[in-house]
Amino acid sequence: MMEYSDQLAAASRFLNENDHFLVVNHVNPDGDATGSILAMGYLLRLLGKQFTLANEGATPAKFFAATPSSLTVQNVSESPLQQKYKYVITLDCGDLARVGAVEQYFADDVQILNIDHHATNDHFGAVNVVRPLACATAEILLDLSAHNQFPMSVELASFLYMGILTDTGGFRYANTTADVMEKVAELLRIGVDPGAIADRCLETIRRSHLDLLQLVLPTLSLHRQDQIAFLSISLQAREQSQAVDEDMEQIVNYARNIEGVEVGVLFKQMDQQTVKISFRSRQDVDVSLIAKQLGGGGHARAAGCTAQGSLEEVQRLALQKIENLWGEK
Ligand code: 5GP
Ligand code: MN
Repeated sequence: MMEYSDQLAAASRFLNENDHFLVVNHVNPDGDATGSILAMGYLLRLLGKQFTLANEGATPAKFFAATPSSLTVQNVSESPLQQKYKYVITLDCGDLARVGAVEQYFADDVQILNIDHHATNDHFGAVNVVRPLACATAEILLDLSAHNQFPMSVELASFLYMGILTDTGGFRYANTTADVMEKVAELLRIGVDPGAIADRCLETIRRSHLDLLQLVLPTLSLHRQDQIAFLSISLQAREQSQAVDEDMEQIVNYARNIEGVEVGVLFKQMDQQTVKISFRSRQDVDVSLIAKQLGGGGHARAAGCTAQGSLEEVQRLALQKIENLWGEK
């Protein structure tokens, strides 16, 4: 495996030597995916390059409102791209499937720069900057900026801060290291407004989130001496509450946060036969291993995948996988 500084150098060459990039993050982008794609757009503009920022699924408006952004991300589900791209940069994607429908715009001879911080990343790029030690993909982009001595601005610093803030759960998760805090202190010195970004990204909820929560909390079930907690979002609950993806983001934490619970799981019904699963763990169980067994991936404390079957079938499958892994410990 290449040294991190060599990976950053290889990524810098990829940016400098090529042009007309397609920059993409994962389906249903979160704060890190969005902060990272905006930061990469900013850097490419600085380098005088042509680029398109795109993904599958709407980016929650709060992530644009939280930062002084002059860039936009095109949702290919609503507005298709007009061409295929040879040079593609993927951000915060543990495997190629995470880019979803954007993959149809990759040229046959595509060259991918894969920048990510998931331990489960399978190095699908021609150039890979994969650093599981990074708390967020945005932290890697901060390192890439420093490596190239790119000038920092409030706009760039805000994108990076948003990614780091959201992927550390507001500087609460175990990935909040001294190194991260030192880097973040620098971003604040540049002029980032931490209160405003936190209010938009972490504090403010939509009415439809509360409507959904009322329907989801009664679905709570506990397993394995109350150490595993399940919550479910049925198609009916989605419809009744008019919830959109961003309304479902934090709900899994209610399961994981119950005292005594080690693994919290949210089952989100996508259609009659498809369920998206979000796993969270408190301190012992590496849920990325479970998600990986089911065709997904993620981090030790937060991972996800998509499974086929009814809600009940997928719940049974997940319980079996968690118990099997736990039994092996
Ligand atoms: P969430 O449960 O919030 O969707 O995702 C938790 C973590 O797991 C995130 O870091 C996310 O990128 C990752 N993740 C979620 N779903 C998948 C998936 O289907 N495949 C992979 N490789 N990672 C996923
Ligand atoms: Mn991330």
